[in-house]
Order: sequence, then C-alpha cells, then structure tokens
Amino acid sequence: MDHFLYKAGILHAEDVALTDIAARVGTPFYVYSTATLTRHFSLFTEALAPLPHLVCFAIKSLSNVAVLKTLGDLGAGMDVVSMGEYLRARAAGVPGERIVFSGVGKTPAEIRTALEGGIRQFNVESEPEMRAISEIALSLGTVAPIAIRVNPDVDAHTHAKIATGKSENKFGIPIAKAIAAYAEAASLPGLKVVGIDVHIGSQLTELAPFEAAFRKVAELTETLRAAGHQITRLDLGGGLGIPYTRSNEAPPLPVEYAAMIKRTLGHLGCEIEIEPGRLISGNSGLLVSEVIYVKNGEGRDFLILDAAMNDLVRPSMYDAHHDIIPVTEAAPGAPTQPFDVVGPVCETGDTFAKQREMPLLASGDLVAFRSAGAYGAVMASEYNSRPLVPEVLVRGDQFAVIRERPTYEEMIARDKLPQWL
Ligand SMILES: *Cc1c(COP(=O)(O)O)cnc(C)c1O
Repeated sequence: MDHFLYKAGILHAEDVALTDIAARVGTPFYVYSTATLTRHFSLFTEALAPLPHLVCFAIKSLSNVAVLKTLGDLGAGMDVVSMGEYLRARAAGVPGERIVFSGVGKTPAEIRTALEGGIRQFNVESEPEMRAISEIALSLGTVAPIAIRVNPDVDAHTHAKIATGKSENKFGIPIAKAIAAYAEAASLPGLKVVGIDVHIGSQLTELAPFEAAFRKVAELTETLRAAGHQITRLDLGGGLGIPYTRSNEAPPLPVEYAAMIKRTLGHLGCEIEIEPGRLISGNSGLLVSEVIYVKNGEGRDFLILDAAMNDLVRPSMYDAHHDIIPVTEAAPGAPTQPFDVVGPVCETGDTFAKQREMPLLASGDLVAFRSAGAYGAVMASEYNSRPLVPEVLVRGDQFAVIRERPTYEEMIARDKLPQWL
C-alpha cells in the first residue's frame, strides 16, 4: 500500500497534487511520501514484536538525509556500506549505537571514522578485514563490536546482479570456514564478537531461500555457543522484495517474514536485526517526468520523456519493470495503445519499457514511474551532462525540496581547468 492516489483526476502524493510540485520544481523529479515510509517501517517493527529487535534501514536504497531523519526519528537503525553513508546517518541524527557497517571493502579511514563516531557493530566480510579492524580499534584504545557475515550458499532466486548468498559471490565468509573465523576473531584483542550476520540478496519474492539461510544461522549459533562464543545478536540482512507490477504474484509480507524469523530463530534468545531497504523505500517514491515528444516510428510509437537512464537506471541495468502511469487520470474506457517509453540519452539502453500499453499521451503530459523510491535517485548520474535529478518529500499537504536540481553553472563549475589551459 502507498499514498499515491488520484484525487479529482490528478495523481497526488498524500494531499499534494503532482502537478503543483512539477510547476514549482520542474521535471523530472523524485517525490517521496512520509506516510508510506513510516507505514512500511512500522510494518516491520510491529511484526517483529515482542522479539528484541532493531530495524536498520539500508541507506543504499535511498540515502537523502531528510528520509533518513524521517525514519531515524521513528527509532530506526541504519545499515551503512561506506563512509558517506555513515556520515549521512550521523547527519540525520542517528546515534552510532543504532548504525551497523556492512560491505566487503571497508577502508582503514572508514573503520576509524566509525569507531571514533560510534558504531553498533561491523559486519565483517573477510579475515584480513577482521585483523584490520582489530588493529585500528587497539590503536584508538577501544574494542570493536563485530558480527561475521557468513555466506550460507543458498540460491536467492533473484536477478544475478543482486544475488549475494551463493558461494561464488564475493560476499561473506563461507559457513564451513566460519568456525575457524570466529576462533580467530575471539583471539584478536581489538574485537568483541557479538553475533552473526547474513544477507543473501535483494528483491526476493519467496520466503524459502531466507528460511534455508536462517536455519543454517540457527545451527551455527548453537555450534558457536558450544565453542564458547557469545552470540547475542543475529543480523539477518535485507532483501524482501516488493511487487513492481500490480498483476504479478505478491511477494511475502513483512508479517509473514517476521513469523518465519520467530519460527526459525526465536528460541535462541538473540536480539534480531534486519536491514530492509527496498521494502521501506521502494513504493514510497515516484519519478515524475514530462513527455517531450510522441514520435511515430515504423510499426511502433515512441514516448520520449525528459527522464532518462541517468535518472532511473534500473530498467537498463536490471531489466526492471516499473509501472508508468499518467498524472492526469485516463477516463474509464479511454483508448490505449502500445508505446516504447524512452529517454533522450544517446544509448539504445535508454529504454524504460517496450510496447507498453498506455493511454494516448501527448507532448507536455506528465507521467509517473511507480515503485521508484529504492535504487532510483541514489543510482542517478549526470551522464549526458544532465543535472542530477532533484528530490521532494511530501508530508500531508506540505512538500519540500530535499535536494535541489543543480544549475548548469553549478554542474560545469565542478570541472577545473589545469593551469596549462
Ligand atoms: C543491499 C543490502 C541490503 C538491503 O537490501 P534490500 O533488498 O534493499 O532490502 C541490506 N543489507 C545489505 C548488507 C545489503 O548489501
């Protein structure tokens, strides 16, 4: 469920007409709904009660500080994968004890910054990283809380670019090597082992791969405890999928996911952490764009938009589907026709949809890409020297620009001429 509905024939974000935002901000732009972000976060916290738990929003899915503060003020923790994300979480007022640091290649500078600023735990992905964290912690006179990310070797049944839990992927330490890795961690004086971490991929549409992974984690918890390790926290990663089309079968709900967590891990008495990104941010955002031209090709018609692959890369990068709907509601029974929906960038990959059945749109009409909140703005670039797409946050009948579109002057002024030119 989201809060993007037609009211009097115009698509609204909560109580704000998208036409009003377009008039103020220009197109294309991203718009997020506070009520939808809040609702999706609460679905997890309510479903995981009464287990001790922390829902850590995966910042990489949508990293605007205003969104982070919206969630952080509700008590959300944050899952970060870089110095930039760590600093964004702190800028949003999230305390270090609610931030977990994931990622395969944490640099010494990132580790130091997190230790100095406060961190709930590092999710460690390799033995060399474990040694580096220990050394840096000792040099700062502190001890770093860690969980080891184990790779359970399960197939997440998702797009190859976002599957992370098979042994051929670069992520985590194979579960067979985990016992030795925990023994080494326990011997390193700068580390305090607090738990186990696992994350098997993104946009999962079934519970079975999660359950297979979590059962392995349960077994490993018992084994590690028998070997004398204090396992008090289980970080189960993110990855729950969302419906990108209204027609396809529905992915599991947070309440079903949480029930499965309780069933497989509840008896261990651990604090549960989860790191959902897409399920909180995905359906909380739209990308709004204007039709520049309708071009009649040979045997097909093109809808040429002012948004392009640099603003929303998911269709060209992951073959992703986004519903694209008109901002002015089509009358019931109004005619439709198939369009190829494309952007102006000079690449054939700059195609959002092929032969998509759409109402008869014309130059100047606005359209909205649904489910664009996650992995949308964060993956945008200025390819083709198109200024970075702005972001808007709505709450009730208010809206605010939470990231401005750079002017052309600002964009070009970032380039510096060497003294010999
Ligand atoms: C990407 C990622 C997430 C979030 O994944 P979603 O599919 O957006 O829920 C969580 N944890 C880690 C370690 C990740 O890499």
